[in-house]
Amino acid sequence: MVVMKFGGTSVGSAEAIKRVCEIIKTRVENDPIIVVSAVGGITNKFVSIIENSAKKNKNNVQDILAEIGKRHEEIINGLGLEQNEGLKILLCETLQGIENIADKISQAGDLAKHLHDELMSMGELLSANIVAEYLKSIGLEGKFADSRDVMVTDSQFTKAVPQFEESQKNTQQYLKPLVGKYIPVMQGFIGRDSFGRITTLGRGGSDYTATLIGAMLNADVVEIWSDVDGVLTADPSLVKEAKRIKYMSFQEASELAYFGAKVLHPSTLLPAVERNIPVHVLNSMRQTDGGTVIAGSTPNGKQEGCIVKSIAYKEELVVITVMSTRMLMAHGFLASIFEIFNRYAVPVDLVSTSEVTVSLTINRTDHLENITRELGRFAQVRVEQNKSVVCLVGEQMKSTQGMPGELFSLLKDIDIHLISQGASEINISFVIDDKALPKVVSRLHNHYFSGELDPEIFAV
Ligand code: ADP
Ligand code: ASP
Ligand code: MG
Repeated sequence: MVVMKFGGTSVGSAEAIKRVCEIIKTRVENDPIIVVSAVGGITNKFVSIIENSAKKNKNNVQDILAEIGKRHEEIINGLGLEQNEGLKILLCETLQGIENIADKISQAGDLAKHLHDELMSMGELLSANIVAEYLKSIGLEGKFADSRDVMVTDSQFTKAVPQFEESQKNTQQYLKPLVGKYIPVMQGFIGRDSFGRITTLGRGGSDYTATLIGAMLNADVVEIWSDVDGVLTADPSLVKEAKRIKYMSFQEASELAYFGAKVLHPSTLLPAVERNIPVHVLNSMRQTDGGTVIAGSTPNGKQEGCIVKSIAYKEELVVITVMSTRMLMAHGFLASIFEIFNRYAVPVDLVSTSEVTVSLTINRTDHLENITRELGRFAQVRVEQNKSVVCLVGEQMKSTQGMPGELFSLLKDIDIHLISQGASEINISFVIDDKALPKVVSRLHNHYFSGELDPEIFAV
């Protein structure tokens, strides 16, 4: 059994969907289950609808709705599905549904969180149905399988946490009987809470849906089809000459996803690691030989090869520095700091401590004021915005002495605000100003990847 996830660009036009369905054809013997994202760019349009509804800009909402309708119509027609009554009705009803939700959002204001998720789920509803119908039209057994009947989550709208056991029960009941007989096509990114309200798993969450479904059904492999040749040595939008990595360990890829490599949602690898299911990252836009294989055990390559596998980054972080002489020799101080972040459900990414200071990074500003106020009750607090974390990942960094020394000597002229070497020793991360990011990433990439690379690990 193979779970195949296709991202927004992969289903972004009629041509792209045709290509995707040709790829699916090659997997028919392997009992494929398909997970799709919304048509590329559509989820961002929903974000604009939400913003405009909140500001009561009804005309703008109408314009965006018209664009969404046009885009999907073009795709449906380009696939030769213009006579498909079911799709026509679905598109019409969905557009009407979006408008109704937008109206409710403009009335409900801040109380509308659950409506945001309901609206954001509509793109995947459309794309999954279109792909299922196109598969049928080319003689394959495509069948829309509604993720809302399968994926149960908690009620944290926009970042819901899947409930594995319950979802697995639903998977066995609704999805498993379809596998092999049909090609189920599901919406990525979305679920339903225990009250029946629609939730979403965070931006880019379709990758996570795919590995969750893979783990629930014990699939042989999960394939993440995107618009890049695989996981690369750096984000290609920042480093043109980034190279494909042929193999990565689960741990390496997890760190990379967590530290911002957008090609994988940060939680994607958790379900795969638990069930030891390999994840392949592949390019749906052009044939390549192999993509990236992420698995529990992968070739190590030459020990003397490049010690860094990839460089990731996350922008627009906030560094909070907490200073108090009360921390000296005291216990419970760190606990009282983290208790505050915990209460506001704000995750802390990096931490570094000295005798009287604790520096940490967060990537959300929604509760920043409250958090700083509370910290301010027992310590001095400094908040610095517009920071980026850069993260270098590689299993071989573990056994390479002097690596941090070499790294930081390359960055002598750069202000470094915080350094953290992961407990796993396979990553080293540091915080710089956002504006230094392009220079730092390309300098490091040039240093670690412009020499001779191990052809067993990198596509050279
Ligand atoms: P999809 O819509 O298929 O889910 P995404 O846009 O979410 O695709 O992810 C693919 C993008 O991730 C690439 O186009 C690339 O710009 C970005 N990216 C960031 N870091 C990396 C990396 N290390 N390797 C590959 N792609 C990366
Ligand atoms: N469509 C959603 C997004 O753009 C989920 C995804 O693409 O994975 O974030
Ligand atoms: Mg993505």
